Amino acid sequence: MDDRLFRDAMGKFATGVTVVATEVDGKVHGMTANAFMSVSLNPKLVVVSIAEKAQMLEKIKQSQSFSINILSAEQQEESMIFAKQIKDSREVVFDRLGGIPVLPGALAQVVCEVSAEHVEGDHTLFIGRVKEIKLDETNQEPLIYFSGKYRSLAE
Ligand code: FAD
Repeated sequence: MDDRLFRDAMGKFATGVTVVATEVDGKVHGMTANAFMSVSLNPKLVVVSIAEKAQMLEKIKQSQSFSINILSAEQQEESMIFAKQIKDSREVVFDRLGGIPVLPGALAQVVCEVSAEHVEGDHTLFIGRVKEIKLDETNQEPLIYFSGKYRSLAE
């Protein structure tokens, strides 16, 4: 099957956008990801799918922890920075939650320890056991991704 057809079909699934963040040797690494979902309530588990070519893969393998930061409509620039869609490097300041780097301004910051890893094709699924959560209380709108473009709920 043609890759384009597969990508186009999967792009019809509208999602939010997250930035995954982790820290190795005192250096924070962030990556934009929308292949994220909630897995289990008891115990509280989530999953994120990371490409084998992504730098993030080795970073999470080393740190065994990560945060998922669900982006607000105001954070398209952050999404573009952490997806390399903005090429020039920008300084991004991270907060900490339970000792793990989290992105300020996110709708939700979810801190996880790696509970399991599954290599599936050219991606690795990281199951995260949720340790801490911080919600933004300002009722911001989410950033949406659909058909390869950033969108907002208002559209
Ligand atoms: P790099 O490409 O090296 O880093 C990513 C970017 O973040 C670079 O520009 C880097 O300079 C910057 N950066 C990293 N850390 C910092 C920091 N501390 N301060 C400032 N800048 C920093 N890929 C997946 O594997 N899974 C997905 O679910 C997924 N979903 C995506 C959803 C969307 C909407 C988009 C646009 C892309 C998605 N991608 C996904 C692709 C992925 O975001 C990119 O391929 C990304 O560039 C891979 O990051 P990397 O870990 O290889 O690191």
